[in-house]
Amino acid sequence: MTQSFSQLPLSATLIENLQSLDYVQMTEVQAQALPEVLNKKDVIVQAKTGSGKTAVFGLGVLNQLDVASLKVQSMVLCPTRELADQVAAEIRRLARSMPNVKIVTLCGGVPARSQVSSLEHGAHVVIGTPGRIQDHLDRGSLLLDELNLFVLDEADRMLDMGFQQALDDIIAFVPKQRQTLLFSATYPKKIASIADHVMQQPIMIKVKGNN
Ligand code: ADP
Ligand code: MG
Repeated sequence: MTQSFSQLPLSATLIENLQSLDYVQMTEVQAQALPEVLNKKDVIVQAKTGSGKTAVFGLGVLNQLDVASLKVQSMVLCPTRELADQVAAEIRRLARSMPNVKIVTLCGGVPARSQVSSLEHGAHVVIGTPGRIQDHLDRGSLLLDELNLFVLDEADRMLDMGFQQALDDIIAFVPKQRQTLLFSATYPKKIASIADHVMQQPIMIKVKGNN
């Protein structure tokens, strides 16, 4: 059974933009996870690459955004710069009908100073790799006091790449009252223990196929 995005409690501008992007039917992971995400639940999603996970958190990020407040309201952690750039591109596409949304990527390999200046101009959404995000938190250039959505994308790969300590350090900066979403292709014990640590009564969604 397929389900359409128009059934979701999304803003009219997001629904229209999804239609213009030819996103009509939700993938299975979207159909299962989006109602919970939009209901502000903590959600763990285990699903394969290509199953449409970015839109699950991307729509969660955009639907709860207050563009009038130039504070960081959502933060997405990704294992690599390439993945962070892909996520940023997809969220920018989803936000095409919301021209005032400011999305800043924070990854290594680029001078931190230019990122500090972007942050000073104001950002609603930050997307980046754990090392550089931790760096900005430590130097005080990234403030999370208004953060209400925290996303761990490809959590298993972040651990494989040795980001456990950086994740623990970042979590200490994240406000306690917030929604947390965790995405992973696999669900080893280490991820379960991170989930235990950062999530509140998470809903577990596991999808086997691609759609
Ligand atoms: P994952 O993160 O699960 O690997 P992505 O979020 O990168 O998957 O999505 C894979 C591709 O599918 C992307 O090119 C995305 O634009 C496209 N896509 C996602 N959801 C839909 C949808 N409901 N309808 C059409 N295309 C979609
Ligand atoms: Mg993905």
